Formats: sequence, structure tokens, C-alpha cells
Amino acid sequence: MIPFNENIRKGARVLRSVLTPPKPEDFFFLTFAVTYRCNSKCTMCNIWQKYRKDPGKDKEELSAKEIGAAFSSSELLKKVRIFLIGGGEPFLKSDFTDIILILNDINPGAPIIIASNGQNTALIEDKLSSTIQSIVKQGNRDSVLYVGVSLDGMEETHDRMRGRKGSFRNALNTIETIRTMDGIQTGFVFTFTPQNYREFPVVLQFAKDMKTPLSFQFAQTSEHYYDNMDTHFDWTREQIDEVRDILRKLRFFDVVRREFLEYRGSRGIGDWLLSYNRFFLEYVLEYQLHQKRNFHCFSGTHSCFLDPYGNVFPCISLGKSIGNIRKQKFDNLWISPHADEIREDISQRQCHCCSFCDIPLSLPRNLSVITSNLKKMLRSG
Ligand code: SF4
Ligand code: SF4
Repeated sequence: MIPFNENIRKGARVLRSVLTPPKPEDFFFLTFAVTYRCNSKCTMCNIWQKYRKDPGKDKEELSAKEIGAAFSSSELLKKVRIFLIGGGEPFLKSDFTDIILILNDINPGAPIIIASNGQNTALIEDKLSSTIQSIVKQGNRDSVLYVGVSLDGMEETHDRMRGRKGSFRNALNTIETIRTMDGIQTGFVFTFTPQNYREFPVVLQFAKDMKTPLSFQFAQTSEHYYDNMDTHFDWTREQIDEVRDILRKLRFFDVVRREFLEYRGSRGIGDWLLSYNRFFLEYVLEYQLHQKRNFHCFSGTHSCFLDPYGNVFPCISLGKSIGNIRKQKFDNLWISPHADEIREDISQRQCHCCSFCDIPLSLPRNLSVITSNLKKMLRSG
């Protein structure tokens, strides 16, 4: 049991984070796309096309050595408490293992969440095995590695959404393989679009049968990241109400609480992701219809997005570059008048999004959002 004093300290920390906006020095969350190489052909994201349109550009990606140098020379990057590693397909990065080891060495104990399409099982198994072996050698046994594998429907739908036949089978093989590996947590991630939302209940049952946690997000657009501004996710009010009903009727979060938490390896990150999903569901649902932001966002202050070429952005959605870690030390670009100008624009609510990578970090710092969501959750039971 957590001692009483510890509970008071935790409560005070939460209260302080709600009542006082973070400062740039409170930086703690890094989303890092280690590569834009990708072996899928998804319908809702164009990252897979980046190097087809611009062959050779992949040579400009940061190397593990450069990443190590950037972290070693930064006090702020040493404060990262959670890493979200994405791509492209991150396992296609040739020095993937070295990069994870650098992050783990500099920030021991910070969970590393890896988003994968799960398409190359053998490669993923190989890279995870060598990563885990090296982590054990490093002596950081408390490290948490979580691999979220995309699953957007059953076989026909998933293969269609991901643009390749066999994608569903590959994702399953990968999950089954990771589940046999010690020291790594895993789960499915379902991306809601108007084209696949009705399949969510079947996917949930499927994940339950596999005793594997399932979290979800909504597809969205981004110019500098997904490169999909010409893709429209046009939800209707009826569809959004249907999604809400699906989640409510399924008692999705009760299922998670009662059953998934018992599954081996699902404690921790999967639970954490799901509790965020539940808490912010109402905002995210309404956002699909109105595209408005009604809360203070602190992306660019307590978190940022680093692209494969060293460019630092406030988040995956807002394409305003704060600087590049090849040209400037991270701490210098982060604590700078230019970064402050971008923060000011964000505070004026000139941007909005429903990014599950970014907004869940800011919403707990908004008292009005917390109370309004709690009321809706209590009303809907
Ligand atoms: S969603 Fe992931 S797997 Fe699909 S194209 Fe984008 S980066 Fe590749
Ligand atoms: S609201 Fe969205 S787009 Fe704007 S800074 Fe926050 S996370 Fe980025």
C-alpha cells in the first residue's frame, strides 16, 4: 500500500499541475519519429510515400551517434520521463537498437513506447531481442518497453486500410511473438476512421480472446508529419454518436478494468493509455465534428516532437519548427525568444487537433476539462 504521506505528495503534485501552467523547464515528454521509412501503404497516412517522392532523403536522418551527442549535451532532454518512438516504421531504422539504448542509458526508467505497424515480425523480434539483451547488460532492469501494434479491423478491413494484403496476419504474428518475449509489454492500437469504426466491437472481442490489451485513437491530419492534408476524415454527427454508443454499449472500459488488467504484461502502459482514452473521449468525439479547441495546450512547453532530421516541433500536428538539434543545442533552441513566440501562438489557440500523442498531456492541466468530462462520464455511467 502507498503510504499516506506519499498519497498527499502525489495529490499536491496533481493539484499543482492543474493550477499552475508548466514552464519550458518542466519538459518531460518526447515524441520522436526515428525514421520515415515505412513498409505499409496506409490509406489515412502518406508517410510511406515520403521517400518514394524524394529518394535519398533518408540519408539525411539523424544517426544514433548524433542522437547520443544531442542528449549528452542537453540538461532538458535528460529530464524526459516518457518516450514515444514512432516513424514511419521505427524498426526499419538501421540503428534502432543503438537509439533505444542511448535513450534508456541517459534516462533510465523512462518508459519507451514504440508504435509499430507490426509488418516485419522477424526484424522486430531480432531488434527487440538485441535491445533487451543490451538493456540487461546496461543494468537497467526496471526499464519499460511497450510496443503498440496497429490493428484497424479484421483481415479484410485491416488489409484495405493498411494498403497491403497480409497486413493483418503479419500484425498478429508480431503480437504473438512479442508476447513470448520477457521484459516487453505489447498491445493493439485501433485507429478510428469513418471507414472502419463499425468493426471496433469485433476487434475488441478478438483482442480479448487473445488476452491482449487494445487502445485506440482517431485518424487525423498533419502537414509536416503525416503529409495527408488532402485526406478528409469527414465524420457525421450520426457516426460520432454511433461510436459513442458502441463504446458505451460494449462497456469497453469496464472490460479493460475487469479483464485486461489481469493479462500478463498488460499492466502499466496499456492501462495508462486506456485511462487517457476514456477520460478524454468526449473531447475527441466532439472534435471530429467541430475542430475546435476549448482548453489550454502546453505542447511546445512540456513536450515536443522531434522528426528524423533533427527538427523540433511543438507536436505532430503544428508545423512550426522551433529549431534543429543539428544546428543548435536542444536547450538553447527550447529556451529562446523564437520558442516563446510559438508558445504564445499556441496559448492564443491559433491551432487545434485531436492528437492522442499530444493533447492527453495537456488536458489534465485544465480544470474545466476535467470537471466537464467527469460530469459526462458520470451521466453516461
Ligand atoms: S500510419 Fe504508420 S504504417 Fe501507415 S503509412 Fe503512416 S507511418 Fe506507415
Ligand atoms: S492544440 Fe494540437 S496542434 Fe496545437 S499545439 Fe496543441 S497539440 Fe499541437
